[in-house]
Amino acid sequence: MLNIPMVDLVGQYNKIKPEVDSAIQEILSTAAFINGPHVKKFQENLQEYLGVKHVIPCANGTDALQVAMMALSLEPGDEVITTTFTFIATAEVIALLRLKPVLVDVERDSYNIDPAAIERAITPKTKAIVPVHIFGQCANMEAIMDIARRHNLYVVEDNAQAIGADYTFSDGTVKKSGTIGTIGCTSFFPSKNLGCFGDGGALFTNDDSLAEQIRAVVNHGMKVRYYHDYVGVNSRLDTIQAAVLDIKLKHLDEYIAARQYAAAYYDKAFSATDKIITPKKSDFTTHVYHQYVMILNGVDRAKLMQHLQEKGIACAIYYPVPLHEQKAYQDSRYKKGDFPVSEYLCENVIALPMHTEFTDEKLEYVTKTILDFIG
Ligand SMILES: *Cc1c(COP(=O)(O)O)cnc(C)c1O
Repeated sequence: MLNIPMVDLVGQYNKIKPEVDSAIQEILSTAAFINGPHVKKFQENLQEYLGVKHVIPCANGTDALQVAMMALSLEPGDEVITTTFTFIATAEVIALLRLKPVLVDVERDSYNIDPAAIERAITPKTKAIVPVHIFGQCANMEAIMDIARRHNLYVVEDNAQAIGADYTFSDGTVKKSGTIGTIGCTSFFPSKNLGCFGDGGALFTNDDSLAEQIRAVVNHGMKVRYYHDYVGVNSRLDTIQAAVLDIKLKHLDEYIAARQYAAAYYDKAFSATDKIITPKKSDFTTHVYHQYVMILNGVDRAKLMQHLQEKGIACAIYYPVPLHEQKAYQDSRYKKGDFPVSEYLCENVIALPMHTEFTDEKLEYVTKTILDFIG
């Protein structure tokens, strides 16, 4: 029996160990833990990789989303449209800032926010749209940016799961995920596609004055030391984390290719059964497979998960409950049944192990175990 975890961060570390260890050792011996030289170096290298004017590092992806909304000066009561099929952080910061989350459903094929549903949810109070590039492929940004232009709305991309994905517009222009909207937000949580050894995050923008505002917000609302023009937060990326990320950034395209290889292996293995609906790729975006999430069609999910567990194969449900059914987010505007696609996905999806350290032997073991079970 093989043991296959959801992610294999130890295997990934072992391949870059000497470089990472010596970078960390150097930081320990200089004690430049906050705002050390690696932070600026990583920021510049990420700007170049993404082709974006400004990267502002911060402490985690949730902070990035909160800081984005603070920097845009959104006011209590302003409506922010987002998807009900996402990780809670997206809606959490909207609620914390006393903005009003307006939830919409997703597309069944891509699991991404449905532009037609966004359009229907717009009111005179709408200020921003937060598309989440779920599981590693971009939402339909051309349609979303078009809606935003027509209604004069900000677009904050939640790019925590899709760093490195390429979006192709109908005129042939290619942009990296997170660099298309007003602000892009990402997370460097260890299991994300570009992950550090703790918490980390960043914001991206091409707007100079917005970048200046974001830099003030993450630094206690100050532009001049000890003069606080805004209420801000304390949100920094540690030097050690920046050094790790700077090393891993050089390997990001390789890591993405390894994930795509595993996904293609899964796709092919399951192509002959109608009991599994493999994740569909949208044609305007590459898929960087933060997660490989497939839909079960007439298979008992709980039994399959138990079987996989017994065979040493990890699996997970992203996400078991849509935002509008979460206890803390109960709202008289919404009830079960309002977002049928998201609810269907929550009941039928399963995520398989996905990381950068697979071998064909491991992939064969996972796919064969599943195919044997579903018969
Ligand atoms: C991981 C994640 C976040 C939050 O990132 P943290 O660094 O854990 O705060 C936000 N949105 C989505 C979609 C995520 O997957």
